[in-house]
Amino acid sequence: MADQLIRATAAQDGIRAISVLTTHLTEEARQRHQLSYVATAALGRTMAAGLMLASTMKQPQSRVNIRVKGDGPLQGILVDAGLDGTVRGYVSNPTVELPPNDLGKLDVGRAVGREGYLYVVRDLGHGYPYSSTVELVSGEIGEDVTHYLATSEQTPSALALGVFVGAQGVTAAGGLLIQVLPKAARDDALIALLESRLSHLQGFTPLLKAGKTLPEILEDLLGDMGLKLLPQRQLVRFQCRCSLERVLGALKMLGQAELQDMIEQDDGAEATCDFCGEVYQATSHQLAQLIDDLNTKTGS
Ligand code: ZN
Repeated sequence: MADQLIRATAAQDGIRAISVLTTHLTEEARQRHQLSYVATAALGRTMAAGLMLASTMKQPQSRVNIRVKGDGPLQGILVDAGLDGTVRGYVSNPTVELPPNDLGKLDVGRAVGREGYLYVVRDLGHGYPYSSTVELVSGEIGEDVTHYLATSEQTPSALALGVFVGAQGVTAAGGLLIQVLPKAARDDALIALLESRLSHLQGFTPLLKAGKTLPEILEDLLGDMGLKLLPQRQLVRFQCRCSLERVLGALKMLGQAELQDMIEQDDGAEATCDFCGEVYQATSHQLAQLIDDLNTKTGS
């Protein structure tokens, strides 16, 4: 099934539910960055969370950046996700591998580290991003983002994130976000009921591996609470915004002396995009043109 995101409401719009399937895009990230098992899980969970947070925004250009900075060997995660369904991201140390945790699962918490911060930036696309920082709870990503939503955005939320990666790569990945909206936020019975149902959910990937579709998963959880699935499903994908033009723009900032040096020493320049791993080559001719541009600007 294609990677996709669906939205729903329940309890007379008192509950917002979002579910996302990210198997293919997580596998693409794994291959692009040559991620270890635990790094795949950490980045995959963060990308699913980013897509779901972005999907709650309204302006078409809206994007969410999630940065995780813990004291574990993974060192850091950065994810950039848009309301348009695109996501990209990377981890600082993609080769980290750790033994499974006590539950026999990939030990994302230890790889990320339990001490550190989660930064979230919501950008509406017109230059005034809203950013907020919380301390990490466990480094498992799901709990950390839930904590962020409860404290920074005052939205009680339940979040399940999962990435199953085996010898053949990623075979199931995605997430589920259920939020109690302001009109129902004082309904303690509703919140207790949701918490109890979610606590019985044995993770998200087992449901996908059992062949459940996203609508079926939401139906099982909220079907008796007036679930209304929004008709449009949105396709989601790994997509970077880098290009040779952007790379040349960044090289130009280095200035004439440095560019001249690259021409003379290396006969060009090579730059790798952190977000997607794409390698760009700039020829001496292109670098010389940048120098020309700089001189024309200074001259005019
Ligand atoms: Zn890129």
